Amino acid sequence: MNMHAAPAIRTTCPYCGVGCGVLATPDGMGGLAIAGDPDHPANRGRLCVKGSALGETLGLKGRLLTPRIHGQDAGWDQALDLVARRFSQTIAQHGPDSVAMYVSGQLLTEDYYVANKLMKGFVGSANIDTNSRLCMASSVAGHRRAFGTDTVPGLYEDFELADTVVLVGSNLAWCHPVLYQRLVAARETRGTKVIVIDPRRTATCDIADLHLALAPGADAALFNLLLAHLDRRGLIRDFPVSGLPEALLAARATSPAATGLSHSDLQRFLEMWSASERVVTVYSQGINQSDSGADKVNAILNCHLATGRIGRPGMGPFSVTGQPNAMGGREVGGLANMLACHLDIENAAHRAAVADFWAAPRMADKPGLKAVDMFRAVEAGRIKALWIVCTNPAVSMPEADRVARAIRDCEFVVVSDMMAQTDTTRLAHVLLPATGWGEKDGTVTNSERRISRQRRTIPPAGQARDDWRIIADVARRMGWADAFAWQTPAQVFAEHAALSGVAGELGSDFDISDHAAVSTDEYDALQPFLWPQSARQRGGRFFGNGRFHTPDGKARMLAVTPRTPAKVTPAHPFRLNTGRVRDHWHTMTRSGMSPRLSRHIAEPFLEIHPSDAAHLGLAPATLAQVESPHGRAVLRVLVTDRVAPGHPFAPIHWTGETAPSGRVDALVPAAVDPVSGQPALKSAAVAIRPY
Ligand code: SF4
Repeated sequence: MNMHAAPAIRTTCPYCGVGCGVLATPDGMGGLAIAGDPDHPANRGRLCVKGSALGETLGLKGRLLTPRIHGQDAGWDQALDLVARRFSQTIAQHGPDSVAMYVSGQLLTEDYYVANKLMKGFVGSANIDTNSRLCMASSVAGHRRAFGTDTVPGLYEDFELADTVVLVGSNLAWCHPVLYQRLVAARETRGTKVIVIDPRRTATCDIADLHLALAPGADAALFNLLLAHLDRRGLIRDFPVSGLPEALLAARATSPAATGLSHSDLQRFLEMWSASERVVTVYSQGINQSDSGADKVNAILNCHLATGRIGRPGMGPFSVTGQPNAMGGREVGGLANMLACHLDIENAAHRAAVADFWAAPRMADKPGLKAVDMFRAVEAGRIKALWIVCTNPAVSMPEADRVARAIRDCEFVVVSDMMAQTDTTRLAHVLLPATGWGEKDGTVTNSERRISRQRRTIPPAGQARDDWRIIADVARRMGWADAFAWQTPAQVFAEHAALSGVAGELGSDFDISDHAAVSTDEYDALQPFLWPQSARQRGGRFFGNGRFHTPDGKARMLAVTPRTPAKVTPAHPFRLNTGRVRDHWHTMTRSGMSPRLSRHIAEPFLEIHPSDAAHLGLAPATLAQVESPHGRAVLRVLVTDRVAPGHPFAPIHWTGETAPSGRVDALVPAAVDPVSGQPALKSAAVAIRPY
């Protein structure tokens, strides 16, 4: 036993929204030994391969170590002065809406809070949006329409208490692996029935009692059919909802043919769902990343509301978020159409309360531009100064090539990032080196509303600084020294918690004001906790008591008319489905550092059905050129019947110019859900030919 071994530091994984607790033990040589935290409620000691490889992604390779101005190393003061001056000048000349921030679900809550405060309270524009727009904006919209708030009703343990778990548009095995492991364990001990609804036969189907290879985009039709079935079976409960007759009318008008399912499969699904009082419907990007994502969410919520299967152990709808702090971003109001602490930017009383709390000189008075519209405004020259923080939109936005050109042509672009060479950092006028996982302190909120600490375990690389501090330094230089005077992330967190108390008095569900006076020591020792800790919900769940955050206290059911996705064309006859692989994360800027993670799947690929491959003359392991009106990718051919004819699949992670080259989001049109503004990243009409 090494008597001098450094103690393990409890922190949180920076990848997916499961939010696993990690024990990180400094090895004395600048590295970390990684293990799952047995005491963290999200994972109870488990980690997936991405989390367990975190120690392999550290080091200085590829890091941005100093500020840079026009490609030349610069001092921090010089860079921060320049950013503050250019933003101030642009606002003075062209107004607050001529500047924008595009931030990230991988920011810590403290970073997010400071960015949101700067833009919405001091610049006076809500032109701050986040890559979470690409991830779960449709869930936010669906929740708000149905519940009156953006509230996730249930907990992870509901996966283990349910008799039936339905996974729709979610490859849980690869995208939320520890939650999947918990489900597998529950299935083994108590025989949980699992239904997977996905056009593609994913790894998650390995545990499916029923896999429904639904027609792409037919999710709302399927849940409408379920609602009509529940009504026929007399299972609609006397639960406090409005809109039930209208929702039923729309449901009864839905044709089973829309689902593309056999009669027997469809009936089996309807019976399995109906027969389980304890049923959890889990959904993710297959639902959200659609041009009717919000309606799909509401079609799912309708079924749980109509039967009262919500907010009690083992039942409810459950949105699993893709990113580690998508939920924290929602809590601080990091989306362009939200305020702070789940308050409403379109509510004058809410705006006044936040303005008063912040002593804000110029409060944004309307929603800002959502991600796709924001980059359109950059392209049109209406946004003249853009600050991108902790994200890589030149790869991850739909029509990514067009977005990259818009950023390149913008008058003034600042990028804060850990890494020196990404598709987005290459387009910046000013680069600001940010600390990354292991180097920074703060909090994140996982998909079940559990707030956990990320803790500093190693020193910052080079001159890297924390994002909250960088943004506050710029704000102080723009003339707002008092409002951005924090010295520690604990002080930022305490202010956020205090604001949530104000929000709570206005009826917000998000209230963590118990922590408003948190000291640095208490913050350092903070244990993972669910919010809120008030009496409004029982057992950590919401809505089991049938009380919702709507004016009449009832949940709202929506009449959903399913929309069919845009048709493919003769020139682009294949409907490409996109998604993630098990071992990589987003645009691979971190996970690509681990050779072990890259061994699972080494290059970008195209899954294509054998009949399509034969028709196109594509042999296995050759290269295929995939084209849409918006971009081009060259991908390794993987012939498989996991996908249906006409519906190939490609992962989103890769970039680069040398074949095979990914940039799959460059193929995707920038169609958005009209309610949530979330892009339909799951689908692109493409042409395919041998390369
Ligand atoms: Fe990290 Fe998600 Fe894996 Fe947990 S499941 S270790 S949070 S990537």
